[in-house]
Amino acid sequence: MVILINKNSLENNTKKNVIIILIDGGRVDFASKSSVFNKLKDNFISFENSITYAPYTTAAMHAVLSGCYGNRTGVNSYWNVFKFKNNQFLTLADYLNENNYYTFADGHTELIIPKFGFDEFNIHDEQKTDLIKWHSELLEKMKKIHNNGKNFFLYLHYSKIHTGISNEVLKVFDNFSKDYFDNNELNFNRYSKLFHNAEIYLDSVMNKISELDLLKNSIILVLSDHGISIGEKVGERAYGAFCYDYTLKTFAYLYNSDILPATIQSQVRHIDYMPTILEMLKIPINTSFEKLDGKSLMSIINGINQPENFAFSETGNPLNENAPPKTPNTKSIRNSSWKLIHNEYNDTKELYNLENDPNEEKNIIGKNPEIEMKLTKELLEHTEN
Ligand SMILES: [Zn+2]
Repeated sequence: MVILINKNSLENNTKKNVIIILIDGGRVDFASKSSVFNKLKDNFISFENSITYAPYTTAAMHAVLSGCYGNRTGVNSYWNVFKFKNNQFLTLADYLNENNYYTFADGHTELIIPKFGFDEFNIHDEQKTDLIKWHSELLEKMKKIHNNGKNFFLYLHYSKIHTGISNEVLKVFDNFSKDYFDNNELNFNRYSKLFHNAEIYLDSVMNKISELDLLKNSIILVLSDHGISIGEKVGERAYGAFCYDYTLKTFAYLYNSDILPATIQSQVRHIDYMPTILEMLKIPINTSFEKLDGKSLMSIINGINQPENFAFSETGNPLNENAPPKTPNTKSIRNSSWKLIHNEYNDTKELYNLENDPNEEKNIIGKNPEIEMKLTKELLEHTEN
């Protein structure tokens, strides 16, 4: 179904710029119903089943940019933000910096992504900054750099869904507030408003990219780091407590003018984009560093049937505490059909048939011993590092 066009142009082209647009807290079900997001599918490869490593920004984005799970890189909890083992793991910015790219990141805190390899790392005021205006200015700045003969890597963090949820949910309710979980319509409407603003932002920024004529010479990745609860499960008012699909399953759209648009239904992982982008740029993986967990998606993109890889995720459920534990206590392993969750804090497990029960409402642990054993073994392999 997917065809790679014009192989010659791929082989002869000079390096492309890289633009990452992160829609913090974007839900995949909202994206799938959005005309703005669906418009991307005209030109992008759309990954409909992309699984994040962690249901919160910090660990999720360190995994995206390093192509590795946080239990190997060191960033597997809010507490370990500054423990990224850069002497063993390189980031996408490290690679691009080494390849003479000008690297620029813009986000609302310095905790969101690894700073390694960035020439500039700007913090915007999440309450006040007009991100459409500011990010458009940054794109113009990058365009000038490109015109002067240098490639760029621009990381843009759309923080406003996160900010809205932080102001209106995180600061108002706790993970067990009756007022919150009894008002799903209100939760839905609150989130819808925030998501709508993200649509306006994305549409404007994409128009800007097109207007600056950056499409033909840039690889663009639009993705979300994790979803956000709108009241699905008591015990998690927003994100970061559980390993359910309303936060783990997110969206990703990848653009490269050399590759035809396509829709990929099979499960991929957020850790796969970094090696995919490097392969597109023909930048070899540095084998003197630790092996990547992510695998390039180029074969899948080229329509070659690939066995699905398991997706591992983990988080620290704060339970009744105000802050999450220092190390993750909730872990999951999944493929397109099944998910196993291990709640280490009370040593319980949950098994879901994702095909019949995508909302994970019916825990069938104990009813499918074979699947359970296989997933338990897989989970162990992912956690015994
Ligand atoms: Zn986030």
